[in-house]
Amino acid sequence: MIARFCFWLAAGLLTFTSLHAQSSYLLRPDRVFDGESMHENWSVWVKGERIVAVGNATDFPAEVSQAEVVVLAGMTLLPGLIEGHSHLFLHPYNETPWDDQVLKESRAYRTARAVKHAELTLLAGFTTVRDLGTEGAEYDDVGLKKAINEGIIPGPRMIVATRALVATGSYGPTGFGADVAVPQGAEEADGHDGLIRAVRTQIGKGADLIKIYADYRWGPSGETRPTYSEDEIRLIVETARSSGRPVVAHASTAEGMRRAIQAGVETIEHGNGGTLEIWKLMKDKNVALCPTLAAGDAISQYRGWKKGQDPEPERITQKKNNFKQALSAGVTMVMGGDVGVYAHGTNAREMELMVEYGMKPLDVLKAATSGNARIFHQEQQIGSVKSGLLADLVAVRGNPAAVIQDLQKVAWVMKGGKIYKTP
Ligand SMILES: [Zn+2]
Repeated sequence: MIARFCFWLAAGLLTFTSLHAQSSYLLRPDRVFDGESMHENWSVWVKGERIVAVGNATDFPAEVSQAEVVVLAGMTLLPGLIEGHSHLFLHPYNETPWDDQVLKESRAYRTARAVKHAELTLLAGFTTVRDLGTEGAEYDDVGLKKAINEGIIPGPRMIVATRALVATGSYGPTGFGADVAVPQGAEEADGHDGLIRAVRTQIGKGADLIKIYADYRWGPSGETRPTYSEDEIRLIVETARSSGRPVVAHASTAEGMRRAIQAGVETIEHGNGGTLEIWKLMKDKNVALCPTLAAGDAISQYRGWKKGQDPEPERITQKKNNFKQALSAGVTMVMGGDVGVYAHGTNAREMELMVEYGMKPLDVLKAATSGNARIFHQEQQIGSVKSGLLADLVAVRGNPAAVIQDLQKVAWVMKGGKIYKTP
């Protein structure tokens, strides 16, 4: 009896200690990518939710001797990766077409999926996502984000757009009788009063940014044409900005891009129809491009392209040229793939394609960490392995600066000092 009593007493003390002492880890990978460059034989000391020291462990304060040592042999440690364009409330279109997801899937069903998607994303090493619209699931991204932040479910940090804004009549699903009211994948709003009210409502409900569709496939023959006027976009930007929030624009035509850039959006999503003039304008106005290469690659494959066997489809060749042109014009690249069109947890596909289309692996790593952090105004918290920042850290087997595919070999994941995955 006494032995058992002592056991429970000890267990109780242990629980008490672990609840009240800050966790402390000394991480020893083969190398560290700090968000800018690669460093061999660096160590990282994490205490509580933050990084406290980085570099040669012999230079760390004596207190580090009490830290739990985590040897990450054969691995590269990186800042937690930042997905620049996700839709946690969508799943691959070859499983269920977008129209059917919006029209036929219940909110509860979509949320259940989103919970799973969030976990897959985190375990793939993506500790933050900029989630650009629930596509008909209302403000459910705000609730998902809250549940993650409270530790109820595992998932990445979320920067959320909520419903997104579209010009009336321009978006989808379409193809129904004129008398039928069809739920849309985003909020329709137009004109002075309508736009101001919609922007403020989304902000009030929890939007971290406002996403607009500056063009869409609503031309007379179904071709992509601009939607909002430049004045409307400027009004959206002014309204959002006075609350401290940025605006980002889906845009694929040169004219849609031009209006959005001139009106003050911070990033252009897709940008397929960019021209030399547009790239120059983006560079001059410091507007970044989120190219979403993986979405185009996935959609072409859903339409029957057997990658590696069949000749390259025209739209892929065009996208490659467009990406190279933007790169050489000096446009800043966001790493964001429009994941949701393809499977959550395979976010690194975008990074592989960025390399395949002509970007250096180290530059792609930078874009997905310190680059995205800066463009999304998060650089004081995440995106680098630096003392004082949140301990969002990922270890992959191998060296992704040499072989970008090594990003698929995520072996260890930490978010805010908490370990979510171990080898
Ligand atoms: Zn998207």
